[in-house]
Amino acid sequence: MAKPDFWKNSKQYYDLKSYWRNLFGCNVHKLQIDAGFTCPNRDGRVATGGCIYCDGRGSNLRQKGKLPSVTEQISSGKKYYTKQAAKFIAYFQTFTNTYAPVEKLRILYDEALAQEDVIGLSIGTRPDCVGFDVIELLSGYAKKYHVWVELGLQSSNDKTLQFINRGHNFQQFIDAVNSLAGRGLNICVHIIIGLPGESEKDVLTTARTLAALPINGIKIHCLLALEGTALGEMYKKGSISMITKEKYVSLAADVLEVLPPQTVIQRLTADGYRDIFLAPNWAMNKLDVLNSINKELIRRDSYQGKNTGQVRIKPFY
Ligand code: SF4
Repeated sequence: MAKPDFWKNSKQYYDLKSYWRNLFGCNVHKLQIDAGFTCPNRDGRVATGGCIYCDGRGSNLRQKGKLPSVTEQISSGKKYYTKQAAKFIAYFQTFTNTYAPVEKLRILYDEALAQEDVIGLSIGTRPDCVGFDVIELLSGYAKKYHVWVELGLQSSNDKTLQFINRGHNFQQFIDAVNSLAGRGLNICVHIIIGLPGESEKDVLTTARTLAALPINGIKIHCLLALEGTALGEMYKKGSISMITKEKYVSLAADVLEVLPPQTVIQRLTADGYRDIFLAPNWAMNKLDVLNSINKELIRRDSYQGKNTGQVRIKPFY
């Protein structure tokens, strides 16, 4: 078995850029939007303090000062990326982007989709924030637009989820996936490699579990220790150690090998955070990490899906 032809790329995995080129026949870029949301895992509704690695900005993009409108953010993003892409996806990234009354969500998403060359949405959220009304709203958009729902999970191990203060358990994630599946939506799941207390087996259990679910994409990154976070404090006190590059590369390759070949790999490294970054140092060289994972798969004479045992090699969407 060789790597699937439908990827039409030179990588050992099915990256997002290739997937979009195959689907739309042009380059597509995600424009990151901060729409001013908060997070129930920080504001007390579910928990306070947030996930132990969360820096309180919800992502590295929390805007300072007055928040520009969705239209302004898309317009400035398009100017920046206009040479790299012909079409755009509005990526509601910062904090929990379904954590508001559905009518407020509709106004924000409508505003994004009204912009020229914006062909869809990507909505970053939590498994406990995709209620029936939100799914109805998003599946309505999916009839006309390309829509992704990005669910933070990080691990399928409940002990880990508790330790990192996710504020939800694995069953809640499964319930969210089951509610979202079959509604025309693309589901992307975020996982972290290198979480405290997690063994290689835990990481692979998460990957194999996801491989068996109706998900369309995955974002993988290594755990980062950031200034101003609970995890950053643990790192500074020496109570946790960070994953080495060699281990991360090897585990990322293991994960790719068990994921179906049609699962879109949206990310393999962490981005940004330079102003508050503590460790691990190697993670700052994004290109080197990406190259190393690809090289590792080549060294193994392997590729995404090699160990799934799947016979289906055509995309299911
Ligand atoms: S769910 Fe996201 S925004 Fe909320 S605390 Fe965790 S990392 Fe931060």
